[in-house]
Amino acid sequence: MADYLISGGTGYVPEDGLSAQQLFSIGDGLTYNDFLILPGFIDFTSDEVDLTSALTRKITLKTPLISSPMDTVTESAMAIAMALMGGIGIIHHNCTPEFQANEVRKVKRFEQGFITDPVVMSPRHTVGDVFEAKVRHGFSGIPVTETGKMGSKLVGIVTSRDIDFLSEKDHDRPLEEAMTKREELVVAPAGVTLKEANDILQRSKKGKLPIVNDNDELVAIIARTDLKKNRDYPLASKDSRKQLLCGAAIGTREDDKYRLDLLVQAGVDVVVLDSSQGNSVYQINMINYIKQKYPDLQVAGGNVVTAAQAKNLIDAGVDALRVGMGCGSICITQEVMACGRPQGTSVYKVAEYARRFGVPVIADGGIQTVGHVVKALSLGASTVMMGSLLAATTEAPGEYFFSDGVRLKKYRGMGSLDAMEKSTSSQKRYFSEGDKVKVAQGVSGSVQDKGSIHKFVPYLIAGIQHGCQDIGAKSLSVLRSMMYSGELKFEKRTMSAQKCTQKCFFPTKP
Ligand code: IMP
Repeated sequence: MADYLISGGTGYVPEDGLSAQQLFSIGDGLTYNDFLILPGFIDFTSDEVDLTSALTRKITLKTPLISSPMDTVTESAMAIAMALMGGIGIIHHNCTPEFQANEVRKVKRFEQGFITDPVVMSPRHTVGDVFEAKVRHGFSGIPVTETGKMGSKLVGIVTSRDIDFLSEKDHDRPLEEAMTKREELVVAPAGVTLKEANDILQRSKKGKLPIVNDNDELVAIIARTDLKKNRDYPLASKDSRKQLLCGAAIGTREDDKYRLDLLVQAGVDVVVLDSSQGNSVYQINMINYIKQKYPDLQVAGGNVVTAAQAKNLIDAGVDALRVGMGCGSICITQEVMACGRPQGTSVYKVAEYARRFGVPVIADGGIQTVGHVVKALSLGASTVMMGSLLAATTEAPGEYFFSDGVRLKKYRGMGSLDAMEKSTSSQKRYFSEGDKVKVAQGVSGSVQDKGSIHKFVPYLIAGIQHGCQDIGAKSLSVLRSMMYSGELKFEKRTMSAQKCTQKCFFPTKP
């Protein structure tokens, strides 16, 4: 009987599509665009799909998304937003150890609604300085402390009511003459809960509430406008002390040990050893060093693209593997170094090996769409790391600029000449210190404004959930077991199949 005949609602369904093992047994490297996943059976809604997944052996995230340690992607604002959304940000190291540790500290100390690094001025600042800050930051409620810094005695606050009726000729007046003085301020003590602070603000009818410690030193402020915006983040990634999770990247040189110490003091949860080719004696030595000195600290090693590379790092004790070489959007490694691997193949090969040791895989780079995230996860990755997709969001470092009427932010490879001019850290990822001639492995460019992470990540989350629903996987762990059991089916895409999906739209006349 022909095997396509199905009678009476039951019967034999022919084999269709390829298992992941079959897809990758052919030996040609595949990118995310080279294959598709065949749809399965749906018996649940997309918002029921559970995206909980392991970041490292000991850390689990509710959203499998990571922002890359690049200086145009992740500093504290991005890391805070990513952690609030259930993912995590890895602070870049193209900066001094002190700057990086301070960024980690800002994430760890972040409390919803409490601003711990506001613009602060001293009584010697002038009315003109306040007007200038208003133009730059768009607000005018500025606390005034003795030294003009946080942690110093609070002496007053300048609000729009203090300066609104002042004119040009008043711009040189010192703030001590214009500000509302300490005696007239309503403040709250450090340790106050957000709810209590909210009540005080409402009763006092003020716009800003300074929070001071026992010595009357300013430790935070709360803004009425922020309180209105406050919402719950049920997915937020937090440690046992309810602080947001934060990662940081380091290199494998002697001086990175000092950087590591500062990061640990700042409360970092995971360090990522940042190297484009992680299978090295330097990385193995660093893993051993960290595991001995800080046994509880989670360490992600990489980057790797083969099981043989992964083996050495797993043997050394890594808690996660970062996978990808030459697949990043700003990356020219494969062209320049002749080394690398198409990312679909890298993720499958490394994840298939690493799972035997319980080591989760971070699929790093080459994510251009939410569909690529689903594909990475369906090939065994536990989490996905992104650069360009998160660049040019409000929370990414750097200022927006306009070019041909389009709002852009800079995005650059950490191995680009541009990034290497900023500091020596990125040179260490891509070069040996003694290299006389630098060979760039990345380029520099710009990305169009994407708005806030608080809008963009929910879109990514919903997209992943819809993808899993079409596949018929109610969670990421179900997705992975479907893939390893062979139930999940893939199909290769020819060049013309890929072209077909590049839709063209011709605007019609109104
Ligand atoms: P994207 O998400 O495709 O933009 O790729 C981001 C990833 O590219 C990062 O997480 C790094 O692994 C990698 N990367 C960053 N800078 C460079 C570079 O200059 N050359 C090669 N790869 C880079």
